[in-house]
Amino acid sequence: MTQARSAELSAALTAARNRVDAAVRAAGRAEGDVTLLVVTKFFPASDVVALLDLGVREVGESREPEASRKLVEVSRARPDIAFDADMIGRVQRKKARSVARWARRVHSVDSLDLIEALGGAARRSLDDGERTAPLGVLLQMSLDGDPDRGGLVEADLAAAADRVACSDALRLDGLMVIAPLGSPPEAAMADAAAIRERFAASHPDAVEFSAGMSGDLEEAIAAGSTCVRVGTAIMGARPLLSP
Ligand SMILES: *Cc1c(COP(=O)(O)O)cnc(C)c1O
Repeated sequence: MTQARSAELSAALTAARNRVDAAVRAAGRAEGDVTLLVVTKFFPASDVVALLDLGVREVGESREPEASRKLVEVSRARPDIAFDADMIGRVQRKKARSVARWARRVHSVDSLDLIEALGGAARRSLDDGERTAPLGVLLQMSLDGDPDRGGLVEADLAAAADRVACSDALRLDGLMVIAPLGSPPEAAMADAAAIRERFAASHPDAVEFSAGMSGDLEEAIAAGSTCVRVGTAIMGARPLLSP
């Protein structure tokens, strides 16, 4: 970890926090309403350590086994700093067990099969003492029904929520959205917010709304996001090869 990289991350982090704060104010929302989740996928453990040293306590990862390996390295480097890591990328069923070892929550849950797999994996992690709290679940919504981008269409959200409720090793935290490519972010975020409002009527405790990335965090915060997932704006362009 070079001093230069640390200074670069510090400046970018401050700029991203300022963007979030400005968007929160512009939306007339309360300070602290929106969590900034720093997305560290593709970047090395040394960057995560630098972020911890800069006060970051929540990071997002999207790939196994990259995430598991990296987070072990980070914990070894900073054993006294407690932090949370969220899984934001697609999870293959066979990776559920390893994700349940480290993830506070999974943002990208979009099938009954995956809920089943995560429930079993989280149960075993709890029993083995690898985790102490249930695994948080955010149901990823699909606004356009495009299976390549993942997500559940609105009509399927209730059944998925019921399935999450069947497992005491899972906790339904809320909903997540990735704005579809090629549609204006304001419109996508407004659609997502409308779905969220209808969902809240039957699931009032699932208050989290993970929405917004480097390019559309302002629109997401205006639409009620409680967690923006920011990678590029803080870390820089992702390297082509994983570390
Ligand atoms: C990579 C990723 C992000 C971060 O995107 P940026 O545009 O780099 O901020 C956010 N959400 C998900 C699901 C991702 O996979």
